[in-house]
Amino acid sequence: MTTTIAAIATPLGRGGVGIIRLSGSKAYAIACQLTGKTKFSPRLASFCRFYQADGTIIDEGLVLYFNAPHSFTGEDVIELQGHGGMILQNQLLARVFELGAQQANAGEFSYRAFDNDKLDLVQAEAIADAIDATSAAAASSAIRSLSGEFSLKINQLLEQLIHLRLHVEAAIDFPDEEDVDFLSDGVIQDKLEQTQAQIQLVLATAKQGQLLRDGIHVVLAGRPNAGKSSLLNRLAGQERAIVTEIAGTTRDTLQETVVLNGLTLHLTDTAGLRETEDTVERIGIARARTAIAQADMLLLVYDVTRDIEGGSTPIQLAEQLFGELPEAKRLLIIANKSDLLSQNSDKTVQLSNALTETSQTNNTVSTFIDTDANNGQGYEQVNVSCETGAGIENLIETLCAKVGFHPPENSLIARTRHLDALRRTLIYLDEAHEQLVVFQAGELVADSLRQAQHSLSEITGAFSADDLLGKIFGSFCIGK
Ligand code: GDP
Repeated sequence: MTTTIAAIATPLGRGGVGIIRLSGSKAYAIACQLTGKTKFSPRLASFCRFYQADGTIIDEGLVLYFNAPHSFTGEDVIELQGHGGMILQNQLLARVFELGAQQANAGEFSYRAFDNDKLDLVQAEAIADAIDATSAAAASSAIRSLSGEFSLKINQLLEQLIHLRLHVEAAIDFPDEEDVDFLSDGVIQDKLEQTQAQIQLVLATAKQGQLLRDGIHVVLAGRPNAGKSSLLNRLAGQERAIVTEIAGTTRDTLQETVVLNGLTLHLTDTAGLRETEDTVERIGIARARTAIAQADMLLLVYDVTRDIEGGSTPIQLAEQLFGELPEAKRLLIIANKSDLLSQNSDKTVQLSNALTETSQTNNTVSTFIDTDANNGQGYEQVNVSCETGAGIENLIETLCAKVGFHPPENSLIARTRHLDALRRTLIYLDEAHEQLVVFQAGELVADSLRQAQHSLSEITGAFSADDLLGKIFGSFCIGK
């Protein structure tokens, strides 16, 4: 006997329908007491009135009954579909509590589904990801993961690993069987290498899925009037972009979330990085520095007609603005106001002198080298005009390429947690490979394979620790 939990499953506010969900052994009896009915048939909608203890009517609507184990949670589930008003829903919920249900915690319905083997962890996470998706591609990937595609891949790999372990353990237990040395006959090595290659493939897919889910954090920086706001507007104003404000962010650094070419960009505009005595401005700058440190990508916007005069280079400007020179893979230099260059050929010459780049034409990506500071690593620059829109498309494509975003048609949603587990699995498999090929150490091969299997199974939840479960389900919304 478990407790019976209840929660409002629809968003609070006004709506045609509001749904309260109950799950647990008392759900059916509560529905009977609430409505005065004595019987509900599974999966059939019954129109009822919902009553207070004194017989007054709270609301009327539909009751849906899903009998255990044929329900989302695997327990008896009741859905009360009333009208979607805050007062009505709260009164109905209070009455359900009076009849013996308890308030559900965030994610508790999904947790029960997981606990009753209705879902594995990947699927449970996919529910939350589908609800929170910021792009159509992320939503459809989450739904694919929910339907079990990702879990199936992981389970197939787990099965392979288990077979591999059996092979190795048999080789240890029967070393002289038929005069064959199983460990060195190449079969185990082949199988191991195949598994490694397949996990590499899943990791590559999962990386795309993680980018789809989480997007990237991008910081725009530059001197005042370089065109940062114009760039933000350009990016946000693209026809394909969905613009939302991230809840709970402070107003001192402007944040926008846009989806471009399927990639979610969390853009932060850092206003004016400079030395200042002003306390409030200092706090703002400190926040900007934190944003810079945490960003996946830094966009340095400069005004080609002004910001790099006097023989300095954009790389020196980056060094100045960020305090230290960011790694090339984290920095994209945006040469803005390219429309003004064609009107003034002197400026073009000046720009070319300022960079030691290989090619410098409008609206293309150029790679240039800062030999002193950077050991020859290439920094990329894109020329744009926020005024005319020239080069913006190219900027978006360069950005996607820089973070390695190219989701396949049928991508699957993934989380950092999954990537970690896959990477750890690969480390153990590398160890197993070394023990096998270099040392022929059967026991150690077996042990590394066991650890690899353990890491991989964390993804779907077979070996997950309780605190991890708490963290995953705690981030769900109530009623899910
Ligand atoms: P921020 O201070 O870096 O945010 O710069 P703004 O976006 O406010 O731009 C400063 C000024 O430059 C504004 O007057 C813009 O209209 C102008 N501006 C921005 N981008 C371009 C561009 O590509 N070409 C031209 N000609 N002007 C631009």
